[in-house]
Amino acid sequence: MPKIPFPTKTVSARVAAAELALLEGAYPRAQTALTYRNPFELLIAVILSAQCTDARVNLTTPALFAKYPTPEALAHARVADVERIVKSCGFFRMKAKNIVSAATDLVTRFGGEVPRSREALESLAGVGRKTASVVMAVAFEEPALAVDTHVFRVAHRLGLTLGPTPRAVEEDLKRLVPRDRWAHAHHWLILHGREVCIARAPRCGSCVARELCPTPAIIRRMVAERVAAGPATTKAGRRAPNARGAATRPRRRSP
Ligand code: SF4
Repeated sequence: MPKIPFPTKTVSARVAAAELALLEGAYPRAQTALTYRNPFELLIAVILSAQCTDARVNLTTPALFAKYPTPEALAHARVADVERIVKSCGFFRMKAKNIVSAATDLVTRFGGEVPRSREALESLAGVGRKTASVVMAVAFEEPALAVDTHVFRVAHRLGLTLGPTPRAVEEDLKRLVPRDRWAHAHHWLILHGREVCIARAPRCGSCVARELCPTPAIIRRMVAERVAAGPATTKAGRRAPNARGAATRPRRRSP
């Protein structure tokens, strides 16, 4: 399926508020899918989740925290031993090095505790703005709105932002969502991106925001242009999408 272009105009504030209310209604108890028991475990799990699924991280962390249950224990770990445990998470050498380094900093600079401030969190190895935002929002219920690839895509498709960077999208979303809902909005948008507004084939037909979202019209235009241009299959022979997010059936050839 070809890449679906993002809308080039944002929706009105009224429509944006209605779209967000629909998502909130669809995911009222949305929360992180990562398994953790304390801020330390959450921090390490979020670092490991970069370029990796939460499910894969959840399969990895029990063994990691069984062996290294505290920042002190992880700070004294041999990186090679940690690499073996986190190998299936991807980029495992860098992640193992980062989590041992972050644990060392927690012990030497923060008294063995995960700091609450963005500045302190972002000073830890492997922690950027997105990871810091997740830890602040989930572990400490601070007002923070992390923008990952799902949040970025869904916010654009809904016409909530034209921001070219995660930071710009974050600022736009913060203007649209009340401050006390920032942390929740992150989860609505992530869950919607994982379950419905999927990158290559959004399931617009079963989306709560389909009547308001500008992207189904973009998909319909794409399909019409492709039909007008010729056979409705991609180069790789995949089916082209329709506006409901379902693949169109290729025409049968006569025997
Ligand atoms: S209508 Fe389609 S493109 Fe818009 S948010 Fe829903 S699934 Fe995504």
